[in-house]
Amino acid sequence: AKRGGKRGHVRYLQEMETDSRRRAGLIAALRRAIERDELHLAYQPELRLADGRIAAVEALLRWDSAEHGSIAPDEFIPLAEETGLIVPIGEWVLDAACRTLAGWRRAGVDPRLKVSINVSALQLLRSELPDAVAAALRRHGLPASALELELTESVLMDNAALAGDRLRAFRDLGVSIAVDDFGTGYSSLSYLHRLPINTLKIDKAFIDGIASPDDHEDATITTTVIAMARTLGLQVVAEGVETAAQLAFLQRNACDIAQGYWISRPLAADACLRFLLDAQAG
Ligand code: C2E
Ligand code: CA
Ligand code: CA
Ligand code: CA
Repeated sequence: AKRGGKRGHVRYLQEMETDSRRRAGLIAALRRAIERDELHLAYQPELRLADGRIAAVEALLRWDSAEHGSIAPDEFIPLAEETGLIVPIGEWVLDAACRTLAGWRRAGVDPRLKVSINVSALQLLRSELPDAVAAALRRHGLPASALELELTESVLMDNAALAGDRLRAFRDLGVSIAVDDFGTGYSSLSYLHRLPINTLKIDKAFIDGIASPDDHEDATITTTVIAMARTLGLQVVAEGVETAAQLAFLQRNACDIAQGYWISRPLAADACLRFLLDAQAG
């Protein structure tokens, strides 16, 4: 703020005002996004390396606002979390993802395909979530094994007791749990064997550095996570795989699943259905 003296200071205040106006405008628009039908999901395939099958798709929220244009999740998800709007939005995501998967199954997609959805802290901590998940599965005629929930380490650690209760409820239902952005959060790993977790998703930050000749640390972290996951009986997904060299590294080191632009960008539901049917046809 000090840069440029008085003029810089004025500009700083103007930028702050613009930021807080944009924020208020986005929040107001987000409140009406569901009823205005402005939300949709993109689906990103996850490739199982052992057999080349698409094992899952991750549902990623998209918002095309009539007033503000298309807004990135990294901008609107935090606003939704701060305002509590993530609760109704999360219910919408759960329902939309289940509806899409049920439609794909009717269209001939392999019934072993899972859909994975991202769950925020506020959603997880509400006591209603396990019931809402069970109801959505029932409504769309899906088995619990078709659904995976992605939670970050911080969500699990900040509210360990309550998060443990919820995770056990999901295990009893038969829904799987993935730890998202693994490696970026807490150093304590003790929760991995205390909680009913099925999958670790190694953060893209580590995958970026593997298979590059001058970066051995990320490669070491990645192979260590894979080895640890194997010992704990967990499945490992590598996020953000962007090159053939990264994929080859993961294959050599027996990573279970790869996700990233090299395999596919997130796709609209109809394009993803075509991708899945093509992949199945071989
Ligand atoms: P995330 O869960 O870690 O999702 C992965 C992000 O990386 C997605 O960004 C995806 O499009 C992007 N990505 C995937 N492969 C690659 C790659 O090879 N290279 C690069 N550069 N990026 C890749 P997106 O869709 O913008 O979502 C950002 C974040 O927003 C997500 O990160 C997640 O934390 C949050 N989010 C998205 N949808 C939802 C939702 O329905 N609910 C909640 N609570 N959060 C969501
Ligand atoms: Ca995720
Ligand atoms: Ca992630
Ligand atoms: Ca992330």
